Formats: sequence, structure tokens, C-alpha cells
Amino acid sequence: MRKWNFCAGPATMPESVLKETQEELLEWKNSGMSVMEMSHRSDLYMNIANEAKKDLGDLINLPDTHDILFLQGGATSQFALIPLNFSHLGEPEYLLTGSWSKKAIAEAEKITKLNVVASSADDRFTYVPEYKDWILKSKTSYFHYVSNETIQGNTLHTVPNIPNPIVCDMSSAILAEPINVSDFSMIYAGAQKNIGPAGLTIVIIEKDFLDQCSANIPNIFNYAQHSMNGSMLNTPPTFAWYMAGKVFKWLKSIGGLEKMQSINQKKANTLYDFIDSSSFYSNPIRIENRSLMNVPFVLRDANLDSKFLDESFNANLLNLKGHRSVGGMRASIYNAIPQEAIDDLIIFMKAFEAKYG
Ligand SMILES: *Cc1c(COP(=O)(O)O)cnc(C)c1O
Repeated sequence: MRKWNFCAGPATMPESVLKETQEELLEWKNSGMSVMEMSHRSDLYMNIANEAKKDLGDLINLPDTHDILFLQGGATSQFALIPLNFSHLGEPEYLLTGSWSKKAIAEAEKITKLNVVASSADDRFTYVPEYKDWILKSKTSYFHYVSNETIQGNTLHTVPNIPNPIVCDMSSAILAEPINVSDFSMIYAGAQKNIGPAGLTIVIIEKDFLDQCSANIPNIFNYAQHSMNGSMLNTPPTFAWYMAGKVFKWLKSIGGLEKMQSINQKKANTLYDFIDSSSFYSNPIRIENRSLMNVPFVLRDANLDSKFLDESFNANLLNLKGHRSVGGMRASIYNAIPQEAIDDLIIFMKAFEAKYG
């Protein structure tokens, strides 16, 4: 029996997607082979790949000013590739809101000088600094931020209105709600939070921005080269791409990103409302910056943490431990987690409070 898995990533996939994959595992549609065994340049596989790209484009209303790339290396590779491709255009700007933006900055600093426009490190990243407090340049290569800090559970819910190309790490927020792609020069996301298996990285990038990629880097690091080659400069992560395609179809079948947003909003509201109504549990994040996807919470008495984790595990609620750098608990409630899982979690949390509170 499948249990509710609140893992931050790699994370829960829609059960129907896993079942379909299982059915097709040995042989894909009378082809005599598994998708895993196909040449990435075969017509068979190209159809799978193109369909996934088209479905993702449909979901996000991809404007023809932008391209979608299916790459490898995770979001962490992008931390390095972004400055490698674009820092020759000027010192970039970074917003520091949590563990992932901190890593992005540390990697970029090995390649370029940069400006940190604002930081919430002073309060353990429990909020996103307000726009009026950012120190921005008028014109430079790009501005980078992490829309949802997966570890701390904070989100910048509006896209900043700034003159520089905006580059956004959306690893743990992509496809959770509609996005206006035109607001961004580049969006990137490791697949393993809200899209599919690890090993695939999605990059949505403006064609005008691609034209400015540095020519002095190896092709494999160059976004324009990947785009020109349809993400097949070398062998892409074919199986993860195929499974991501199934997740895109699943999202379409439930009604697209607006429907997903309303489902996610209800899930998150139910959980935050319960936490706020309790004096036993609390969430440290400033209300307007609370995440739709990652809900950290602490128990009034941290000595009960290990009991909470043991008993929740026995109640079939998996992976509720907070990140080691933050402590406490965290429920990651990505798209594939249904309302029922949230309801079961709250039933457990109430019972735990009644027992130990
Ligand atoms: C998980 C995560 C990363 C790291 O992703 P990898 O694929 O492991 O490199 C980076 N940024 C954010 C916001 C994440 O959630």
C-alpha cells in the first residue's frame, strides 16, 4: 500500500503516472522495446519528447519568444551555468532568501563579482525582504532569485518589476500555479520536486537572452547550443523526460495550472489554518511569504520531535523531518499530494497534541 510521502525531493509522483509507466515498462506500444532502450534520435522517442515539450508549453502558455530545454545536472548545475553564460554582460544581482539562494550566490561568486540586493539572513530566512529595501542597479546582466525556498518554506509571491533580465530558480514551485513566462528571461527547475524523476532539469529561456550567451564556454555548458540542438546536443535523460511528459498530461487532465493552484491553495490553507489554531505547533514564516509547497512547523517542545517522527511514520505519514539546517518538521505538499493526505496529517497532529500537549 502506498503511504503519504511528504518528502521535499525527490518527491511523490501521481500514482496514475507510476501505474502507466509500469504498464509500459517492458514494451512501449508494440515497439518491441522499453522507452529506456530507445535511441534518443529515433522517431519513436522524438515523438515522446516533442509531445512532452508541447504539453508543458500548453500548460504554461509558452510565448514564442521563449524556448524550453530538457537538460541534466539539476538546479545546482544552473547555479554555475547562469553566470558562465551571462556574467560577461555585467555584474549580476542576487536576492538572498534562504539556503538555495545562498548556494546559488556562492557558486556564482566563483565566476563573477555580484551584488546581493537584499537578505533575510538576519532573521533565519523567515521572510523575503520587501522590494522597497532592495538595492538594485539600473542596468546589468541579470537578477536572480529563488521563488520558493524549499528548506525554509518562504516564497516571493509576486514577480519583481525590475529592468534587468529576471532569472528564477523555480525548482520547488514550478507548475504549482499559473506563471506568466514573459516576466522572466529564464526559469529553471530540477524535476524531482514537482515534475518527475531526478536527472531532468527544465529550463525555460527567452530567445533574446539565448542570443547573448557567452561564446567562450564549452558547448555542453552553453544554453544557446542546447536550444539549437533541441536539447539533444548529447543524450538527454530520456526516461525522466518521458515520465515528465506523463506528469504534464496528468496536469492537463485535472484542468491545468489554474485548477492545480486552487487545489494547492486549499491544501496549504487547511494545514496553515490548523497550525495557526494550535498552541502546540507553529510556523515561523511571515504570513505573506508562506510557501504553497513546503510547510515547516515546530513543536512547542522540541524534545517531542523524535516521538512525533516515530509515531507519524507508524501512521503512514513519511518524511516529515525538517531539513537538518533548520530542524523541526516540514511537510512538502507538492502537486501530487492530494487533500486527503493533508487531512490525514492533521488528524494525526491533533491526536499527537491531545496525547502529549
Ligand atoms: C532541490 C532544489 C535545488 C537543488 O536541486 P538539484 O537538482 O539537487 O541540484 C535547488 N534549488 C531549489 C529551490 C531546490 O528546491
